[in-house]
Amino acid sequence: MNSKMGNLIVFTGPSGVGKGTVVKELFQNLDNLIFSVSVTTREKRSGEEEGKNYFFRTNHEFDELIQADKLLEWAEFVGNKYGTPKDFVFEKLKDGTDVFLEIEVQGALQVKEKFPEALMIFLLPPSIDELEARLRKRATEPEEKILLRLAKARDEMKYINDFDFSVINDSAQRAGKELREIILNRRIEKKNLLINDYERPIPNVQFQG
Ligand code: 5GP
Repeated sequence: MNSKMGNLIVFTGPSGVGKGTVVKELFQNLDNLIFSVSVTTREKRSGEEEGKNYFFRTNHEFDELIQADKLLEWAEFVGNKYGTPKDFVFEKLKDGTDVFLEIEVQGALQVKEKFPEALMIFLLPPSIDELEARLRKRATEPEEKILLRLAKARDEMKYINDFDFSVINDSAQRAGKELREIILNRRIEKKNLLINDYERPIPNVQFQG
């Protein structure tokens, strides 16, 4: 990959862990970072906007995007499909902008396979008990759905070793700060790589004759 390209940042964590609030915190405090808006087949929730929260599409339209190879990754999550528009991500990366994907684990692993230099970050709850308490606090879902999401969360956490960093969401403000540090460090590492390339001595080639 051209080292002047932006970084691809993949942010994952189980349902109920509070990804949204941490992401908000991060975007308030970091520039040169753009959020990738996903495509989904799920119903629009009240307050959500087309093109801002998601691109809402029918199952048929979603399948057409898959066929046309327009998605960088896609996965099914609790009965709906979610995917990342590929062209947008690559255009922004080429411009040197860091692109932020907030996606579930299976999609994250697909991105890592296609794009090994992606920066992979996993958001953890302080404990499973705390996650359960947070899911219950939402109080919008029946018991069986809560148990399903908890089982899914336990399953997702098995993949933690595939990620470069884990951040504990004990407070959204603190976790957002840590996320910012991780991204800033990656930017510095890349800058150093560029400088090293520039300063590398020209090999001493001996010409014959
Ligand atoms: P929600 O329906 O609550 O908005 O999202 C459900 C899950 O889908 C969340 O874990 C969210 O991170 C994930 N998600 C959102 N967009 C994408 C996407 O483009 N690809 C994948 N694989 N997961 C996504």
